Amino acid sequence: MRVCAKMRCSHEPVATVSLVYTERMVVVDDLFDERDPNLLDLCPEHIARMTPPVGWVVQDRRTTPVAV
Ligand SMILES: [Zn+2]
Repeated sequence: MRVCAKMRCSHEPVATVSLVYTERMVVVDDLFDERDPNLLDLCPEHIARMTPPVGWVVQDRRTTPVAV
């Protein structure tokens, strides 16, 4: 089973988060079928608590946004 990318978190991830450094953008996608070591799979709690670096924008591209 896949788990949240946050250390010591064992919840099931629901979304894949990528950091686009060139665009200063945090992109939230529906969970990818394949785990990508460069990306973060996060659980709902950690997505809700995610704080992007100052000056970055968050783009939520999920087709089915999860209420958190
Ligand atoms: Zn988590």
